[in-house]
Amino acid sequence: MGKVYLTGAGPGDIELLTLKAYRTIQKADVIVYDRLANPEILKEAKDGCEFVYVGKADSHHSLPQDEINELLHQLALKHEIVVRLKGGDPLVFGRGGEEALHLKANGIKFEFIPGITSAIAVPEYAGIPVTHRGVTVSFRVVTGHEAPNKKHSQIHWENFKTDDTIVFLMGLHNLDKITKKLIDIGKPKDFPIAVISKGTTPEEKTVIGTLEDIWQKAKDLPTPALIVVGEVVKLKEDLSWFEK
Ligand code: SAH
Repeated sequence: MGKVYLTGAGPGDIELLTLKAYRTIQKADVIVYDRLANPEILKEAKDGCEFVYVGKADSHHSLPQDEINELLHQLALKHEIVVRLKGGDPLVFGRGGEEALHLKANGIKFEFIPGITSAIAVPEYAGIPVTHRGVTVSFRVVTGHEAPNKKHSQIHWENFKTDDTIVFLMGLHNLDKITKKLIDIGKPKDFPIAVISKGTTPEEKTVIGTLEDIWQKAKDLPTPALIVVGEVVKLKEDLSWFEK
């Protein structure tokens, strides 16, 4: 019986793969990967390694989560080293925990290999530090997948009132609702916000605006994209280094 390595692929730039992930990928018998994991990484696998695409991106699952869970279980019965490759970090909105629980319930061994999360690295490539002395003392990473007007929301928006930096993942399609909600809870209309598309890749693009006008400016950016809200956005002017 094999073992499943729930592995972070980093945010896009292949150079941001950890050494541990890289070495495990080179030994893998089979790699199960998402849309967000840079496919260039697969070229590092050994000859004869099998690849299974499960195509999950935001809400458009090409394979339902319970089927992915069971697929990993079945693959571990047949192969020694199963790599489950996920964009960013496997446990930051990556459902790696659910996969691990299913494996454990079926007596399959697993390991987590952390990855560099887009939540920090994508703003960083755009020249936006998530914390900065004198500007912020905290940052919050939130799912933007849940529409803010949803009944029985699990997100406590009122808590964001005094937040310094807020990073929303999976939020582009709710950008208008998210910004309205932030204004509703008392953030100034001209509060700085950035949307970063395809971060850490050659197609990276950042759009800067205010809570009031960002939606018009950024709604048509290609995904994946994340949203950064906070005074740190202003640092981009001086710290931008990657985007041409
Ligand atoms: N586990 C991943 C996040 C999965 S949720 C991580 O740790 O990075 C998927 C969301 O991550 C996307 O909707 C987008 O908001 C964000 N994301 C991932 N890669 C990105 C990239 N290269 N550029 C911008 N946003 C990205």
